[in-house]
Amino acid sequence: MDILAHSLWAGVGIAALGRRLPFTRRTAVITISLAALPDVLQMLPVIGWWWLGDGTFAAVRDFAIAVPGQEPLLPSAVLFVSHHLHCTVHSAVVAGLVTALVWYVRRALWIPLLGWWSHIVIDVFTHSADYYASPVLYPITERGFDGIAWNTPWFFVANYLALGAAGLWVWISFKRGRT
Ligand SMILES: [Zn+2]
Repeated sequence: MDILAHSLWAGVGIAALGRRLPFTRRTAVITISLAALPDVLQMLPVIGWWWLGDGTFAAVRDFAIAVPGQEPLLPSAVLFVSHHLHCTVHSAVVAGLVTALVWYVRRALWIPLLGWWSHIVIDVFTHSADYYASPVLYPITERGFDGIAWNTPWFFVANYLALGAAGLWVWISFKRGRT
């Protein structure tokens, strides 16, 4: 899914959850950031190549909005690091290990990790076999589920309508709760 929708769904989710478990603003901000981060990390090697190497801004921009088969040419090392970063942060296997480790150390679930989990779960179903299927079981396999690509026009519109409705519902329930 696109990065804005990921952030907004995490925002709606944490607001809805906040009705039962009060959160600090900091927790909400970290949760939303972790929901957006998986699609930002893969850009870092490409941006580094532009800043420190002989990359161009045009290649960075084309990489950010690429569709399968139309990706810009990048050095193989940049592509390798970017690809595996993307796989790592989209993996339920990796997220499961990190969640378990943090849970063990803190003796409690760290709520902001739910932002990351929301990204992983949403991407499994909003990418398709021919639109970057999400590598949810990396490093066991890089294959993913054949869902509905989020950039399919009707789905894109339906997603933002659903976001609007969910946001409105949370807002109304907040107002009701206050009076
Ligand atoms: Zn993603």
